[in-house]
Amino acid sequence: MGSRSALVNGAGGFIGSHLVKRLKREGYRVRGVDLKRPEFAPTEADEFIVGDLREPEVVQAAVDGVDEVYQLAADMGGAGYIFTGEHDACVMHNSALINLNTLEFGRLAGVQRYFYSSSACIYPEHNQLDPDHPVCEESSAYPAAPDSEYGWEKLFSERLYLSYMRNYGLDVRIARYHNIFGPEGTWQGGREKAPAALCRKVAEAEDGDSIEIWGDGEQTRSFLYIDECVEGTRRLMDSDFPGPVNIGSEEMVTINDLATIAMEIAGKQLTIEHIDGPLGVRGRNSHNALIADRLGWQPSRPLREGMEATYHWIAGQVEAGTPATP
Ligand code: NAD
Repeated sequence: MGSRSALVNGAGGFIGSHLVKRLKREGYRVRGVDLKRPEFAPTEADEFIVGDLREPEVVQAAVDGVDEVYQLAADMGGAGYIFTGEHDACVMHNSALINLNTLEFGRLAGVQRYFYSSSACIYPEHNQLDPDHPVCEESSAYPAAPDSEYGWEKLFSERLYLSYMRNYGLDVRIARYHNIFGPEGTWQGGREKAPAALCRKVAEAEDGDSIEIWGDGEQTRSFLYIDECVEGTRRLMDSDFPGPVNIGSEEMVTINDLATIAMEIAGKQLTIEHIDGPLGVRGRNSHNALIADRLGWQPSRPLREGMEATYHWIAGQVEAGTPATP
């Protein structure tokens, strides 16, 4: 491989496929690995291994000769996948194994630098019960009490990366992503997140129809546009700060607000029907003091701008009649 080379685990996924594009623009030689190729556009990676990172031989081939590893592969999905409890064993086993393999075989191959994508889901549930004042400061992670096994696995893996840094001197960077969204993300099939799901529902509806929202819609969240996520990821990787640090937006909205934004963008008058469904925590927002302090940068793009790009992309998919993901 060339002078700066990167491995992107999860390069067939949403953030991974965008990160590959960014690394290519910066002149990296990029190798991607995933169970599947990107769904919505051909990969821009120089080399793409379709393989299972739970398998040692796949990981050994993937880490060979690279300077940096971006570990984004995980068994994940939206609330409908993470919070029902039905996938807990898979979520924990599969993602932990990917991280264990990546670090161990990466270390043995002499790879020095690692980025790990953790999540806001590691923060204690009891700090996120008040939708108006959720606490997601990095230092509030302990005593730990995430609300899902997905969050517990992320916390375990954060500690795994920090242990490898401590004991083997690896350079490790850990970001806690907060609800990333944008074009070319999953928008149907059960693993999509709130912004994509709402854009799809609005795009499919006719004036006067109603769209369904899980819960009372007063739960709060913030959403970060994909370009800013990738920007923060690259800035963190090039910094000397290991983290863990939040990469998220501080523009907090209710899910009802988010639906209204999608309707305004579409120019449609729809009513909202609140139904039972898996919800996750009551409130969540990024807290950006640490990233601003350590990187001199934080996300600043308004939610509405990202929603416009996302809505138009999803409306195009709906119009093209893209078949539902199996
Ligand atoms: P994604 O599901 O689109 O991408 C993850 C990719 O990992 C998928 O393409 C999947 O096929 C791949 N993968 C899963 N198991 C694999 C295996 N055994 N071998 C090889 N590949 C495998 O998810 P994403 O939104 O791009 O998220 C990327 C990372 O960021 C994940 O680790 C996720 O937990 C983390 N994260 C994402 C968000 C978000 O809002 N999207 C928020 C917090 C954290």
